[in-house]
Amino acid sequence: MAKALIAGELSNGAASQQTLELITAARSIGDVSVSVAFSGAPGISAPSVPADRIYVLEHDRLGESDTATFDAATDALTALAKETQPDVVLFSRSDSSSVIGPRMAARLNAAFAQDCTAIELNGDAFVVTRPVYGGNANARFKLNGSGPHVISLRPGSYEAHSAPDTTSEVIHFDPAPHIGDSRSTLLRTVQEAQEGVRLEDADVVVAGGRGLGGPEPFTQIAELANLLGGAVGASRAACDAGWIDHSSQVGLTGKSVSPRLYLSFGISGASQHMAGCSSSRNIVAVNTDPEASIFGDARFGVVGDFSKVLPALISAVRDIS
Ligand SMILES: Cc1cc2nc3c(=O)[nH]c(=O)nc-3n(C[C@H](O)[C@H](O)[C@H](O)COP(=O)(O)OP(=O)(O)OC[C@H]3O[C@@H](n4cnc5c(N)ncnc54)[C@H](O)[C@@H]3O)c2cc1C
Repeated sequence: MAKALIAGELSNGAASQQTLELITAARSIGDVSVSVAFSGAPGISAPSVPADRIYVLEHDRLGESDTATFDAATDALTALAKETQPDVVLFSRSDSSSVIGPRMAARLNAAFAQDCTAIELNGDAFVVTRPVYGGNANARFKLNGSGPHVISLRPGSYEAHSAPDTTSEVIHFDPAPHIGDSRSTLLRTVQEAQEGVRLEDADVVVAGGRGLGGPEPFTQIAELANLLGGAVGASRAACDAGWIDHSSQVGLTGKSVSPRLYLSFGISGASQHMAGCSSSRNIVAVNTDPEASIFGDARFGVVGDFSKVLPALISAVRDIS
């Protein structure tokens, strides 16, 4: 039986959506024993999840999301992996996993595969799928060696595991003896401004692109997102133009989202943009150009001017809410 260790994340005290996606990914491998590690400041309570085992790692330096935490988390998770000898360690792709994952792999003398969209076990070998060439092609990589392999999966690549929580064992693993002095010094923390639901977690994303022609229509984009209980997204062109903050950028060099509804206005659908949203359950596109490539990905499309469609949609949603 293969063993998977998941680097779990907490969101408001519960397992994050991304952690549940990793559980689905691990279960899809086949006959696998799944462990989830939750790290945090002393006193964290680890939520129950559909896994065989939960490891709880408590330490002062695991409490914050900063560079010192990344050092401590690398030390702690590496020690846990050395002790439990999983075949595969799974992270959800994020800023922190991009720092911790490769360092952990180096210390374990293991392969690190980042931003994968699928994982499978082919005989004894793990094979991962990874989008390449700006999302225009998928490459499959066989990971050599016996592992543990360290893999980060793109958020939204798997459905969140919805089985009832069945954790049978909770084990407290003391990371203190393994956490060394931090080699990083935190100079300052900049809190990303955020109102409402987080873009990556949103069930509905309303996104705008260069076709909006300026920053003003983003007020209406935000209004619609608000009415639908969603978040605002944007193309890189709109962010680069300074119409909206880069934290809203969706795509290859932005955030990956997989909402139930992705509503786009004035976005052409370049592969680098779609790399961040093509796993959305339903894409609805509004664009004046009937040849815009986003219509190839959209479930519903409106060939029309956003300045007419957007206010009409806002008013229709108001009427029914
Ligand atoms: C290495 C690399 C990484 C990249 N990463 C990203 C990324 O992460 N995210 C990203 O988005 N891009 C990324 N890009 C840029 C990407 O290639 C595109 O340039 C960008 O997505 C285009 O943004 P857009 O669709 O808003 O603009 P455009 O391509 O200019 O499209 C604007 C669209 O608006 C339509 N339109 C015009 N007027 C109206 C109107 N009144 N009503 C309705 N529709 C209208 C037009 O028909 C057009 O289709 C990357 C590029 C590179 C090279």
